[in-house]
Amino acid sequence: VPELPEVETIVRGLSGPLRGATITRTRVHRPDLLRVGARTFQRKLGNRSISGVSRRAKYILISLDSGAFLVVHLGMTGQLLLGIDPHNPPTSTHPGVVFTLSDGRKLVYDDVRRFGVLEVLTPEDWVMRESRMGPEPLEDSFSLPLFRESLSSSRSPIRSFLLDQRRLAGVGNIYAIEALHRSGIHPQARACTIEANKAAALRREIRRVLRTSIARKGTTLRNYRDAGGNEGGNAPRLLAYGKEGKPCLQCGDTILRIVFGNRSAFLCPTCQPR
Ligand SMILES: [Zn+2]
Repeated sequence: VPELPEVETIVRGLSGPLRGATITRTRVHRPDLLRVGARTFQRKLGNRSISGVSRRAKYILISLDSGAFLVVHLGMTGQLLLGIDPHNPPTSTHPGVVFTLSDGRKLVYDDVRRFGVLEVLTPEDWVMRESRMGPEPLEDSFSLPLFRESLSSSRSPIRSFLLDQRRLAGVGNIYAIEALHRSGIHPQARACTIEANKAAALRREIRRVLRTSIARKGTTLRNYRDAGGNEGGNAPRLLAYGKEGKPCLQCGDTILRIVFGNRSAFLCPTCQPR
């Protein structure tokens, strides 16, 4: 499931190659990826040029010269793939929406399970959407005082707190599990019970695991690919996520898997006591 580092990697890969390009054709193979009819979607994109590509939370924002944004959420298995030149269309197994650029290159939104969403939003729509998102974990706005205040107001298990995009933007299960493991916090500890030194450690480890993964171009477990179709290199850096039955690298105890909130959590019972 693409989280902040994966979306950031895709954005960095698209930003240079897409800037200044014009979308001349949009083919919708899977209308269920849209929230409006295919015609409406196509009309909003018709012959618009791209002024930039950026990220907020887990959203890819492609800015158009009309002022609108093509906003892409990858869901579980979405990929946004750009062909390097007109003669090399990207390899895609489940194309959902295909954009043709004026120079002939193709930008393909591919999605096996189709939980992703593509929308064209006005600046006002986007401001409304963004107003419901928490701070970016790698920006200064994610300060320790703000984080502690937010923690103190929640009785949720800390893992659920971290996945709540209104509390913190862009973190999903993989990086939440990794950051909790590295800061020695049980995933089911109530947010409001986390002490000051642990909160500081957790904030530091959230930032560290995200930065490390961005540097390694994201974590590929199965479906994630960057804009060029390449796997990310961060999977070998995972210490807890998916490591059920393996030894904890800190203490040698065995990593456990538990399930709550409909999702797996992984922890070392010694390093992360209840
Ligand atoms: Zn341990």
